[in-house]
Amino acid sequence: MLTDTIKNFVGRLFAPISRGPERLGPERHGIDRRAVSRHAIKVCEVLNQHGFSAYIVGGAVRDLIAGLQPKDFDVATNATPDQIRPLFRRARIIGRRFQLVHVVFGQEIIETSTFRAPANGEEDTDDHGRILRDNLFGTHEEDAARRDFTLNALYYDPLKEEVIDFHRGVTDLKKRTVRMIGDPATRYREDPVRMLRALRFAAKLDGTVAPATLAPIKELAPLVSNVPSSRLFDELLKLLTCGRAMECLRQLREVGLHKGLIPLIDAIFELEGGEEFVELALARTDARIRAGKTVSPSFLFAALLWKLVYQRWQELMQQGEHPIQALVIASDDVLDRQTRSLPIQRRFQADVREIWFMQARFDRVTPKGIWRMLEHPRFRAAVDFLQLRAEAKEVDSVDAQWWMDLANADHAKRTDMIEALQQQRRSSGSGQRSRRRRRSRSKSAGTPAPNAA
Ligand code: ATP
Ligand code: MG
Repeated sequence: MLTDTIKNFVGRLFAPISRGPERLGPERHGIDRRAVSRHAIKVCEVLNQHGFSAYIVGGAVRDLIAGLQPKDFDVATNATPDQIRPLFRRARIIGRRFQLVHVVFGQEIIETSTFRAPANGEEDTDDHGRILRDNLFGTHEEDAARRDFTLNALYYDPLKEEVIDFHRGVTDLKKRTVRMIGDPATRYREDPVRMLRALRFAAKLDGTVAPATLAPIKELAPLVSNVPSSRLFDELLKLLTCGRAMECLRQLREVGLHKGLIPLIDAIFELEGGEEFVELALARTDARIRAGKTVSPSFLFAALLWKLVYQRWQELMQQGEHPIQALVIASDDVLDRQTRSLPIQRRFQADVREIWFMQARFDRVTPKGIWRMLEHPRFRAAVDFLQLRAEAKEVDSVDAQWWMDLANADHAKRTDMIEALQQQRRSSGSGQRSRRRRRSRSKSAGTPAPNAA
């Protein structure tokens, strides 16, 4: 008993809070100042000149230390929004619940927020402990404590080139360990999205989630169903575009977090070639991300769900349904099932449908129809999708390449290609016969055969 009391007392004496934060110089954090946004530096400088403290914070510091290119730069300061705004020529206060300032420099916006206090148990929560409102300004230390993971709670002072670290985040980051600040289960209950974030940062950094941070997730995974679906959708997109999408998907399935996001993936992985198809699609996505290119969400969802659509499409055709009609039914069916668990925004849904529908048209289109397809805004994506199917050995790669070449050609070249195709079709028999042949091929395998008929 007594030893416990002494241990507690000694423990409190040496608790991290009483030691204050660690301050790390360039030799320990390794941030190359040239990789830091000059606009973010400017915001810190101006705030400093006016007697405030200001730091670059969050994802940018994490990525800079990890040697990754930050997506954007956020600043945290002890100045209030009303104190920040007048210091900059183009700055606006945004947000209702928790106000922050957008400082605008041409294309770049530096999100500048006031230090904020963590949950103190008095804020509004839902029945599961999810915080609905928190709007208290706080101290620097409090601001660090309300952040999710130790590696996300780092503050970079670009003027002193110093990193301020309240939670040993740099050590965790160097070990590539995602560790929750505070009690993991409580913090997942406050905001279930943190479970998804834990997996994403581990995958992105090619690291792991610390055992105690990972442990509660399996049990708490169903809580994501209480999160507004638009936020989940955004988070799912971030997972799929973090540069290691397949790894994310595997982790999600392992802890059951996929159930509230994309439960159909279980059925898809059970289909013949299903997992391979998703893997191919996500490998392409990762490659695009690494090359700094954009990824279209509609293409991603079209690819993730395709094998289920494809299977249904083939079944319906075998039952005698017209190929195009069969694909429409199959698409609606799969999208309905997906949107029951997690709605996909309508505009994306429309694009996903177009990408799928064009797969049936590649197969049977007339020269006039080809010209019309070329006008279609999703034609490029549909041709990319056809290439993906060719890579998965679902369609003939020579045919897929013909469409890719057509997409890349100028008008004159396109005219030649389409004419040559017509010639080929004519010389291989009457239009009637070739149409029949094309249809029978599509029935068996859904093979596009623009130049085979
Ligand atoms: P990304 O690369 O996805 O932008 P990020 O860490 O910058 O990663 P943001 O959503 O931009 O993520 O958030 C910025 C910072 O705000 C985080 O680094 C973290 O400190 C804090 N934060 C964000 N979301 C949460 C959350 N759900 N709970 C606690 N802190 C959070
Ligand atoms: Mg960010």
